[in-house]
Amino acid sequence: MQNGILRLRPHHMICLQHYAGRGYDDAFAAHMDGIARRLGAGGILVELTDGDDDVCAKCPNLVGGLCLSQEKVDRLDARWLEASGLRIGDRLSWEEVCRVTAPLLASPALFRRICGECVWFSFCARLRRAAVRQESDGEA
Ligand code: SF4
Repeated sequence: MQNGILRLRPHHMICLQHYAGRGYDDAFAAHMDGIARRLGAGGILVELTDGDDDVCAKCPNLVGGLCLSQEKVDRLDARWLEASGLRIGDRLSWEEVCRVTAPLLASPALFRRICGECVWFSFCARLRRAAVRQESDGEA
């Protein structure tokens, strides 16, 4: 059973996999907490969208329907679409989003090439390195 549709601009497929309670302000973080809970509960269908989405809805950087960093986030969106082979309008489960993006995120060089200009990149890259360390410790 579906637990609702989440409209996401492409690079937010990646942001949400690295969300750890931090955001642009308290209202935004609370909104992200809610989205993270919905994703954790399962049954979410993601619809890839052009422009502002369900994450942007509570962002202080969204002004008049445009992101204050519009050109940069458009570049991130375009790069994630190209790398993933997904298209605007595609609908897929959150689990499928994670499955499709996992091999891309497994390449630190590719991750940096796509997201390196984002202010959150070093935070996300650190989380990712910690997850990889944890996985290899578990295998040892
Ligand atoms: S910074 Fe821009 S793209 Fe990111 S959530 Fe805010 S409005 Fe959306």
